[in-house]
Amino acid sequence: MADGCGCDRLAQTYLPVDEALRRGLALARPVDGTETLTLPQATGRVLARDCTSKIDLPAFDNSAMDGYAIRLADLDAQGDPAVFALPLAGRVAAGDTGDLAAPAGSALRILTGAPVPDGFDAVLMQEDCDVTQDTIRFKRRPRPGQHIRRAGEDLPAGAPLLKRGQEIGPREVAALAASGHGHVTVFRKLKVALFSTGSELRQPGEPLAPGQIYNSNRYMLAALLEKPWIDLVDIGPVEDNPDRLRQVLREACETSDLVVTTGGVSVGDEDHMPRVFADIGGTLDVMKVAMKPGKPIMFGCRGSALYVGLPGNPVSAFVTWQVIGAQMMRRCAGLPDIPLATEQAVMAEPLTRHAGRTEFRPVQIEGRAADGKPRLRLMAASYSGRLALLAQADGLAIIPADADALPDGHPLSFLRF
Ligand code: AMP
Ligand code: MG
Repeated sequence: MADGCGCDRLAQTYLPVDEALRRGLALARPVDGTETLTLPQATGRVLARDCTSKIDLPAFDNSAMDGYAIRLADLDAQGDPAVFALPLAGRVAAGDTGDLAAPAGSALRILTGAPVPDGFDAVLMQEDCDVTQDTIRFKRRPRPGQHIRRAGEDLPAGAPLLKRGQEIGPREVAALAASGHGHVTVFRKLKVALFSTGSELRQPGEPLAPGQIYNSNRYMLAALLEKPWIDLVDIGPVEDNPDRLRQVLREACETSDLVVTTGGVSVGDEDHMPRVFADIGGTLDVMKVAMKPGKPIMFGCRGSALYVGLPGNPVSAFVTWQVIGAQMMRRCAGLPDIPLATEQAVMAEPLTRHAGRTEFRPVQIEGRAADGKPRLRLMAASYSGRLALLAQADGLAIIPADADALPDGHPLSFLRF
């Protein structure tokens, strides 16, 4: 790669994972466009503006129970009897206006969600009342406001509800609906182009000639990029031909926000991507990261497009995508940065290794330690191409760059699948 493409310096530099991620995030710009969609269309998308509630939530005082509404002052008139008794003067159900006149000293039948008529200040659960003819009897004096959901107690009108950058999942769409939003403004979909490089690649289902392998990265990345906020163009496989790679990469950069490729980023004769990217006017920012698996990962910008070149080894492609690429993608889509969702675990065996790179090692959970943390059994020392092993793993153990010997029971961060 010391051939004048400007990549030779980068090729020598191993960046710590954190530094590579920081640089990747610095390159990732959120999409500029927005669109206003109905709630069903917006579900799964990313909010482009903060949202406030359009109404009080709930909109009016209403009953939290099926039971009887009363006025506490009416009980004072009865002194301190063993059993209170009030005649029933009407009924109010969900959907009624609640505009009901009831004489002093009477109770109302009230159903869950019904408006509490003016002046009524407690609801008794029907399970706490005896009802005979048109009179209710109950022993215990209710608390003021008992079983009444007050207008605005969840959220007053105009108060902040959701933030720009939130993904509209089931909880968010329900809150938007409850607060009266028929439409919301979301970021436009992120346009992502995906292709796998390699002259050896065939489609699963086709016969394999000698030297050929099935293209697994294509399906893995397509699955990782399957998001409601992504518009994915799956270009498929591209052979290791620099002219063809140049043409496909240029077109992908001109028509997408983010281009993701696998393979061809290392130092072999057929690893054309750094050169090809430079040829089409791309500026590389990172080429090597001190991580295992996956030290060759490149990313940079070309015009308004961000390019992430992942290694060809499938486990390396998976890990580099999860640790770095996916974070960049989230920022491009307008989502907030989130740290890797690791949990604390312990080693189920001792480990010795060469220090220097942060390792993301496939592991299986083998029971729990006394304090409840999962115990991690390391699966293999050499695994960057072993997809069957990855599919059988429960997650990745994160072994710090400087660790060369870890005893049995040593605490570790664990990234559960
Ligand atoms: P490369 O980074 O192109 O040198 O590829 C590294 C290794 O990953 C080689 O053994 C490739 O055959 C393999 N490989 C590259 N691309 C894919 C792919 N799309 N699916 C499965 N294996 C791949
Ligand atoms: Mg290759």
